[in-house]
Amino acid sequence: MSVRTRADLDQLPAYVAGRTIPGSIKLASNEVSAGPLPSVVEAITRAAPEVHRYPDMGATKLIDALSSRLDVDAERIAVGCGSVALCEQLVQATCTNEDEVVFPWRSFEAYPIITQVAGARQVRVPLTEEHELDLDALAAAITPATRMVFVCTPNNPTGTVLRRAELERFLDSVPSDVLVVLDEAYREFVTDPDAPDGIELTRQRDNVASLRTFSKAYGLAGLRAGYAVAPPEVAEALRKVCIPFSINALAQEAAIASLESQHELKVRCDEVVAERSRVRDELLGNGYEVPETQANFVWLPLGERTQEFNEHCLDNRVVVRAFTDDGVRVTIGTPEENDAFLAAAKSFPAA
Ligand code: PMP
Repeated sequence: MSVRTRADLDQLPAYVAGRTIPGSIKLASNEVSAGPLPSVVEAITRAAPEVHRYPDMGATKLIDALSSRLDVDAERIAVGCGSVALCEQLVQATCTNEDEVVFPWRSFEAYPIITQVAGARQVRVPLTEEHELDLDALAAAITPATRMVFVCTPNNPTGTVLRRAELERFLDSVPSDVLVVLDEAYREFVTDPDAPDGIELTRQRDNVASLRTFSKAYGLAGLRAGYAVAPPEVAEALRKVCIPFSINALAQEAAIASLESQHELKVRCDEVVAERSRVRDELLGNGYEVPETQANFVWLPLGERTQEFNEHCLDNRVVVRAFTDDGVRVTIGTPEENDAFLAAAKSFPAA
């Protein structure tokens, strides 16, 4: 007789990470290519001799730093081992068996996995033909069993962003006992003045949370630090379902140092934004469909040509992220990295 794991896990695909291939350019995980800021490396080095001690369990210094930077009460902030951990904690905090989590699809690949692992039911709502979130359909999918809705803006992997007015209308229609989680992992790259600021919305509404991360614009993907701004009772529940000490000491120090480097962050985001326009324009010029993106990646809805395009990029030593029969997501890298990708895209034979 062998050990029995949960039967429902048999059909569950594990999370697939972007591949790293030595000698190839990695544009597969929406990381920033520029590396961590120098002040952050110094902070990690300073903290290293203390790693034989457990980290501050409440991440108090980091939460205080976030509280003053964001002008949000500390009791409304929770930090986690990456924002993906907070996504899972939010499901655990709101759902028991058979409760429903509604989310757009295609969107962040972790949503279906964490929902199933938590024992909740997933309700996937297709995107529009324009690869955007369909807020009317999301609203229509909410039932009395719904406890949470993920709203990913900019959406991973399509890059499209919601406008403030349409999001406000949607929020007006959501029952007050359903938590709407605005997953804003890419918020720092948004330049559209009509895009909502989720943290602002959490000030105005009692059923909205905003999720942010240090993995993307801040360049700390390898350290694992994210945060949620949420109603106080939700933030408290997040702390309860959190694995003890899940945000490690180096991640806490690095995140604090990052928050103090807003000028460098802005310069870095501006570079990504400029490259984003250049890459998209060139792809459009080469006949590709590329939805307007507000994130640090572009989406190529290539349908059944997805795998072929992926192989072609790999042959050209560029690793992109392919979603079978749907499309390819390509991270904006340095100008040289983007040039390598654009050359690959240009030499891809027309259908
Ligand atoms: N949300 C979205 C939309 C993402 O794309 C990602 C990372 N791919 C995350 C959350 C999680 O990021 P992290 O756990 O590194 O903070």
